[in-house]
Amino acid sequence: MKRPNVERDRTARLLRRQRLRLSGSCLICGKLPKVGSLTTCAPCRQKVKLNNERRKTNEKCTNCGNRVPSIGRLRCTYCAAINAELKRKARREAVLHAISKLGGACEWCGETFWKFLTFDHINNDGRSNRGKHTSIPFIRRLAEDAPKYNIRLLCWNCNCARQFRALTEDEVRLVKEVK
Ligand SMILES: [Zn+2]
Ligand SMILES: [Zn+2]
Ligand SMILES: [Zn+2]
Repeated sequence: MKRPNVERDRTARLLRRQRLRLSGSCLICGKLPKVGSLTTCAPCRQKVKLNNERRKTNEKCTNCGNRVPSIGRLRCTYCAAINAELKRKARREAVLHAISKLGGACEWCGETFWKFLTFDHINNDGRSNRGKHTSIPFIRRLAEDAPKYNIRLLCWNCNCARQFRALTEDEVRLVKEVK
């Protein structure tokens, strides 16, 4: 049996999705316009729903339709792992893009290594919005329109110094210079 070229297929799929997303078309059929904030058209959505229901009754993974789903889940362990990996990649890409759009560095100390950076809620309204504000779609919107969300880049150090030690930007600068 010929093994599929997973990496190449995935890139082609990503490019197609990107193109369709930009044109506002359904990500499945690529022909009809998508419905509202969804990514698919109404007929495709209905088809997926029916398909999933059939797979559920037959005790098949709703993603591949082949393997047995893990207990209490809709997907098999294999599909779940692939999905998690894709999500991790998408999040990483969205975060890197948002960071570069927000200036690429901590606004207080200039730290640039992305793993040290956080999205700081200037008005301290992060907690109430946390669930919503860590989703991939939100991070994508943030990259496009940062001022609207009152968010800036701070590194973990500066963010914690501000939140838990009540330091100001000037104080942080002073400490960094003395050191
Ligand atoms: Zn469609
Ligand atoms: Zn599966
Ligand atoms: Zn900093």
